[in-house]
Amino acid sequence: MNKIPFVTKGKLEEIAAVYPTPFHIYDETGIRKNAALLKQAFAWNKGFKEYFAVKATPNPFLISILREYGCGCDCSSVTELMLSKAIGAVGDDVMFSSNDTPASEFQFANDMGAIINLDDITHIDILEKTLGKLPKKLSCRYNPGGLFKISNSIMDNPGDAKYGMTTEQLFEAFRIMKEKGVEEFGIHAFLASNTVTNEYYPTLAKVLFEIAVRLNRETGANIKFINLSGGIGIPYQPDREPNDILEIGRGVKAVYDEILVPAGMGDVSLFTELGRFMMGPYGALVTRAINQKHTHKEYIGVDACAVNLMRPAMYGAYHHITVMGKENAPCDHKYDVTGSLCENNDKFAIDRILPEIQMGDLIYIHDTGAHGFAMGYNYNGKLKSAEILLKTDGSFELIRRAETPADYFRTFDCFEFYKDVLK
Ligand SMILES: *Cc1c(COP(=O)(O)O)cnc(C)c1O
Repeated sequence: MNKIPFVTKGKLEEIAAVYPTPFHIYDETGIRKNAALLKQAFAWNKGFKEYFAVKATPNPFLISILREYGCGCDCSSVTELMLSKAIGAVGDDVMFSSNDTPASEFQFANDMGAIINLDDITHIDILEKTLGKLPKKLSCRYNPGGLFKISNSIMDNPGDAKYGMTTEQLFEAFRIMKEKGVEEFGIHAFLASNTVTNEYYPTLAKVLFEIAVRLNRETGANIKFINLSGGIGIPYQPDREPNDILEIGRGVKAVYDEILVPAGMGDVSLFTELGRFMMGPYGALVTRAINQKHTHKEYIGVDACAVNLMRPAMYGAYHHITVMGKENAPCDHKYDVTGSLCENNDKFAIDRILPEIQMGDLIYIHDTGAHGFAMGYNYNGKLKSAEILLKTDGSFELIRRAETPADYFRTFDCFEFYKDVLK
């Protein structure tokens, strides 16, 4: 299998003539197709709702596309809440799944009617003190600890994760919340990241559905929704099979029918908070080869750097690379593809086998649509790139301009010298 860019070289050159590289480009067609498919996969559940994880791709233009498919916003900070509010997502359209939360952010979330998902039992008190009384609807994040396994393979290590409440705390929290007047309850858990298997959601759902039945029996809590959160992954490597969301939907339904329906809980709504799955494959970082260096290794220097895409530097993550126009050329060169940061981990690829690269070639880095631009930073005084939407009709639109030096110096505006810097 090979990964094929969603845009042609000709189109990219046309865009680059208007908006110079580097930039992130997003594929409206792919975003729409995938969002429709997710909706279809869970159509059997009456209250189903995807709350897009805003942190993955915090661009109001892109999230507005998802809103057309009934998606809400999953936020974990006040600025993410503000972004959601700005595009009309308020009330039940917003899930506030934050941790280590400042009281002022609970207040902001509550003021816009967001559903609050508590990460810790101590937050019940803090929330009550902050708001005067608890909201009628409230959710808790669960962390069963230990290792999260599917069949015999270890998917992740919740026992080592800072998130959520233990089983005992969850029961205690539900009792306290009920006593304090909460009427509608939700349960949330995120136990494994970037899972490329159709088994993750059904396995997680079983854990959550079983605990929901017990919570309902033992505390009398009226459980309205169960939030399967994020974690459905994408195949970054070209040889991996993508998840089949319809199959995942069927898998969750089977567990729902097995556990919730017989318990008289067949009206529980299912929520998701997908980020990567919704946007990851539908974004790419487009950059140009600008330097070639032959020392102890062969290096290709590009005009993007880890500031534009941090995942390879931070996690050693694989992102597939296509040299535009050389899709059919023989892959007979081994390169490190690097950015310009004074940081040796600023490499998009190490020992990658690629066609011969010439200066000026457009380099297409795949699957940057989620946790790509969003994780950017300003090390070495590097500026964040533009974001461009490739529309379904083939036209393109700037949906975020590139930063300029004025943006970089903006936070010094209280100092005298700032005035001269940009002259
Ligand atoms: C990051 C995050 C998500 C989205 O995760 P993906 O891996 O992008 O699906 C969802 N919910 C919460 C609370 C998160 O922190």
